[in-house]
Amino acid sequence: MARRMPNYRRTWVLRQALTLSTKSRQSLPNSSNGSPCGMWCFRLPVLNPLDYNAPRATGVHDFEFYAPTTWAEAFSLLRMEGAQIIAGGTDLVPLLRCHEAQPQVLVDLHCLPNLRYVSHNGGSVNIGAMTTHAELATSPLCLSHSPALAKAASAIGSTQIRNRGTVGGNIASASPAGDTLPPLLVLGAVVRLASDGTERCVPLTELLTGPGETSLERGEILQSVEFPGPPEDAGSAFLKVGRRNAVAISVASVAVLLRLRANVLHDVRVAAGAVAPTAMRCSATEQSLEGRPLTEESLASAAETIHSEIQPITDLRASSNYRGLAAAALLKRAVIHAAQLSKARQEREVIE
Ligand SMILES: Cc1cc2nc3c(=O)[nH]c(=O)nc-3n(C[C@H](O)[C@H](O)[C@H](O)COP(=O)(O)OP(=O)(O)OC[C@H]3O[C@@H](n4cnc5c(N)ncnc54)[C@H](O)[C@@H]3O)c2cc1C
Repeated sequence: MARRMPNYRRTWVLRQALTLSTKSRQSLPNSSNGSPCGMWCFRLPVLNPLDYNAPRATGVHDFEFYAPTTWAEAFSLLRMEGAQIIAGGTDLVPLLRCHEAQPQVLVDLHCLPNLRYVSHNGGSVNIGAMTTHAELATSPLCLSHSPALAKAASAIGSTQIRNRGTVGGNIASASPAGDTLPPLLVLGAVVRLASDGTERCVPLTELLTGPGETSLERGEILQSVEFPGPPEDAGSAFLKVGRRNAVAISVASVAVLLRLRANVLHDVRVAAGAVAPTAMRCSATEQSLEGRPLTEESLASAAETIHSEIQPITDLRASSNYRGLAAAALLKRAVIHAAQLSKARQEREVIE
């Protein structure tokens, strides 16, 4: 199994890498002013992962670092051999340090236009790929259309990670435990992917193909994620358990979106994270709740269904049995939270 750095070391590495990048900036060959087309270019050595006390570069693996300012530059850079995108770097930098990723060229998306926003157009909510988790967690649009997504973003890592990590990076990393994925799945999210001259929209369910694997093609940039704004009276919830209360990767997570009418559950959508090779929609669990009254009995039967529907594994964070029990318990609570929110929204509509 690949060696992994403790979490606090990973954040430190990111800070060091970024500090080094400004020190080791160099101009591109053939550039007249050192910054062709307004791009930044660095040659950045990765720190030695074995030397815990060395805040210095040891040249384990070199790569070139570009920050293009136009889409044409970005696509042309991504055609280079060994090119890889970097967004916040919170997933990628730890992988560079333990040699699980060895790009020859890193293409930073921070200087590209129109990648950092949350907007609402024609009934659909659009989120730019470079929107950070901190921005998502506090976005009034996200809080009103999908409190569950805002909650998931606010539960990611630490303040530093949320300020740096992006929603696009969370999706493209395709971790089974990626916290934005279950809320996006229940919202029926679609991702917009762009490559040189083409653009395509792919449902999130089809983008996630395995642990750390997506159907993103070489040279494609995830530009945004979009979903239809849920009905005004829908309630949503996201709950996760980790091995501790903060800076914890999910051991199990559940997102729920539903409407409660006269104590009956309608339009139920359920997704779970960290309990299968990818974050997954739980359609059998949805069916077991659809049209049922909100009672202990319905919740118990749905909890049994999700337990049999997911495929949890045993790893260093939890046993498969624990994950199954956790997902079942989270489901019950998430349904109750979402139902309460739906009820409160209906009452607000009546008052207004
Ligand atoms: C200490 C710590 C705690 C964490 N806690 C959590 C947690 O609680 N929950 C959680 O879900 N995650 C957690 N993470 C993981 C990470 O922060 C998130 O997955 C984050 O959203 C990744 O985004 P990024 O912008 O940093 O991606 P990067 O690290 O920059 O990129 C990740 C991958 O996505 C690709 N990529 C990035 N953006 C794009 C794009 N627009 N188009 C195409 N490809 C792209 C990159 O090439 C790379 O392969 C944690 C990480 C750390 C270090």
